[in-house]
Amino acid sequence: MVPNWRHPSRMIASTILRAPNARTAQPNLSFDLAKELAEKHGTPLLVVSRSKAIETYWAMKNALPGVDLYYAAKANPDLHFLSTLNGENAFIDVCSPGELKAALAAGFTPDRMLHTHPCKTDANLWECYEAGVNWFVFDNPIEAEKIRRLTPDVNLLLRLATTGASSRINLSAKFGCPMHEALELLATAKAKGLKVRGFSFHVGSQCLNPQDYVEVLRSVREVWDEATKAGHHLEVLDIGGGFPAPYREDAPSIEAFGEVITNGLREIFGDLPIRLIAEPGRGLCTESVTLITRVIGKSRRWELPWFFLDDGIYGSFSGKIFDHTDFPLLVENDGSRETVPCVVAGPTCDSTDIVSRDQWLPDLEVGELVLVPSMGAYAAASASPFNGLPMANSVAID
Ligand SMILES: *Cc1c(COP(=O)(O)O)cnc(C)c1O
Repeated sequence: MVPNWRHPSRMIASTILRAPNARTAQPNLSFDLAKELAEKHGTPLLVVSRSKAIETYWAMKNALPGVDLYYAAKANPDLHFLSTLNGENAFIDVCSPGELKAALAAGFTPDRMLHTHPCKTDANLWECYEAGVNWFVFDNPIEAEKIRRLTPDVNLLLRLATTGASSRINLSAKFGCPMHEALELLATAKAKGLKVRGFSFHVGSQCLNPQDYVEVLRSVREVWDEATKAGHHLEVLDIGGGFPAPYREDAPSIEAFGEVITNGLREIFGDLPIRLIAEPGRGLCTESVTLITRVIGKSRRWELPWFFLDDGIYGSFSGKIFDHTDFPLLVENDGSRETVPCVVAGPTCDSTDIVSRDQWLPDLEVGELVLVPSMGAYAAASASPFNGLPMANSVAID
């Protein structure tokens, strides 16, 4: 994923959307429960809160009335989390046979699945199709030809490229048909006998300003109308993912964020009898997972205390590298202990395995636990067992 650091509106967005509608990263369990779970299951341990998952799902459903939510399994294919969403009858977005299997294991049926990878291998396309997935995405003529050759009867969404001004991660740097080429691509697909049933887009991940969606919706509506005039029958609009989550930085509330998008959908697409869908990943799962990690060692170098944890950037903190997230670190009785600037490092032998260089913490004891909220998205999902160290287990709590 490509970071979008340079765009000036990133700063403006985070200023505008702070309080009163901000939400802050919170752990889903107390230190007492963390100690109990750590004793029983060992650390590092990812704790999935089923009630938080359900609460977040319904908050987003209510904030986006009339929009079906296809959870983007890429963000976190954890079985506890997926089965909780399946219990709420959610839809799911899978991008590979691996994600398909995870979704099936959690109880999702293929009729509730959408495959959104715009550039997939033959095997990926074929295996998901054979399992019963019937909705796919494409954004170029080569992919259209692949689909014609292997699975010509599927339903397709054409992914459009967007600008995603306030998003931390710009997904249109890699995917999406430029808006001005969409009509030509629709014609190409039609000539191949393919069924393009709608458009999709992604404003970019960790989008901080919902106005971005509204601006994209306006451009999409123009292309939509041109497509209709040219004789294409479109009936699905997929507004993608991008919904933000709090880390060390607060995020806008689900309600405030959704309201802007809902109003935009009403104003711009409200006159059309179409199906609206979204593919939230991060926004749905981030806050449901808290990591329990343990201090395994200490040292002092260059005048600074160093604390070593049993999880690091090759493990659950991988989001620091791939997703550019900055995780809050919480310790017990934080308020009554004197804090100092320190370095927090991961457990591998690699010197890039640094979890944080700029958080103030008390003089941690070897063996004490650190809680890390907002560990649901792009954290465990991109972890590796590098250096022969085990990845965190996951458990569910109510
Ligand atoms: C990653 C991804 C998502 C989820 O994005 P979030 O920003 O996590 O909501 C949705 N759709 C597609 C196609 C993606 O690649």
